[in-house]
Amino acid sequence: MTTNNDFSPKPLFSLADTGRQTPPTGLIAPARYVQGPDLLDHLGRFLALVPSTRPAVYISAGGLRRHGEQLLAGLRALQIEAAVEIFEGECSYTEIERAASSLRAKGTSFDSLIAVGGGKCLDAGKCVAVRLEIPVVICPTIASTDAPCSALSVIYSDEGIAQGGESFQDSPAFVLVDSQLIAAAPVRYLVAGMGDALATRYEARTCYRNPDGRAVIGGRPTIAAQAIAELCAQTVFDDGIAAAEANYRGEVDPALERVIEANTLLSGIGFESGGVTAAHSVAMGFTRLPAARADYLHGEMVAMGLLTQLALEQTVDECEQVARFCAEIGLPTHLAQLSIDTTADGPALQEAMAHSAATPLMDNEPFDVTAENTWAALLHADEIGRAATASVGDQAYRRLHA
Ligand SMILES: [Zn+2]
Repeated sequence: MTTNNDFSPKPLFSLADTGRQTPPTGLIAPARYVQGPDLLDHLGRFLALVPSTRPAVYISAGGLRRHGEQLLAGLRALQIEAAVEIFEGECSYTEIERAASSLRAKGTSFDSLIAVGGGKCLDAGKCVAVRLEIPVVICPTIASTDAPCSALSVIYSDEGIAQGGESFQDSPAFVLVDSQLIAAAPVRYLVAGMGDALATRYEARTCYRNPDGRAVIGGRPTIAAQAIAELCAQTVFDDGIAAAEANYRGEVDPALERVIEANTLLSGIGFESGGVTAAHSVAMGFTRLPAARADYLHGEMVAMGLLTQLALEQTVDECEQVARFCAEIGLPTHLAQLSIDTTADGPALQEAMAHSAATPLMDNEPFDVTAENTWAALLHADEIGRAATASVGDQAYRRLHA
């Protein structure tokens, strides 16, 4: 598959051709990030920051039903008429090319693309905007992933299997997070985002400690990214339970605001400029299993990936601590909670883990990662997770999956 975006940050940063051994450190972030209740009403006002007066909105049909009126009325109040393009559900090259040609066929010269929705819609929106050569504005309606702030998209096949990523020269021009929308969304999304956010600390730490580790942007991680990744997980540990309760009540409170920021801004900068390793590689592997792919969210798979990473790195105390928190908040702690049966799904799961072990992200681990040690770590993590759930209980998980 060829794309019109062949930017690859790793060779850019390597400087190997200049004889330098170590790449420089680097950090990127969205140009602007704004968060608070009821901000969707005021999107038009903030478009002045891009600046944009002729936007196109990219949103799913369900998103348009739920948020379209509020969004478009807010824009119209400022005499901004936006075209609407429907996101058809998968962040695949088929969908990206379809949406880009559909918008080109509309014939208007748009000056921004506003992607409104969950992680896949936002990621597809970034790819569409780069093809139209216009800035992307990101409005997450759930806080379930670290997609909103990054200059890359995870690309899936039409069937939903993770295929890799596409990187962009520019971070999103503007990220607007309406915390009231997040408070009104199902709690499971916020909790999944906490799984993604927790992993940020451990993945960034591994990349930082390994002298050969690289951040996603291609350089060595900065200490700023380390501090952000650390704060990201600590915020989830400190405020996660209270934030989930606020979300159950549908109310924005300071704990929920902090966790939304951790899931969205800190996790986004933390993974991109801090680095990604085993937790995300293993999560990508789970997308090869139809039951996990159909019924579970990215952050839920990352949580199990994180337990596997900690088992692989043999930091068992931490693995137990994270597993207990996952059980308390309702994240999967063992494979059955991702609808994976280690006996019936054994061969497919082993093959999935072999794919995970072979991803370039695993190069950030300071030792050789093989299909065998990844498989052994997964089984060890499953055992630790089952013990944590036996001790903490599975009420939080069942409440989210009722
Ligand atoms: Zn993630």
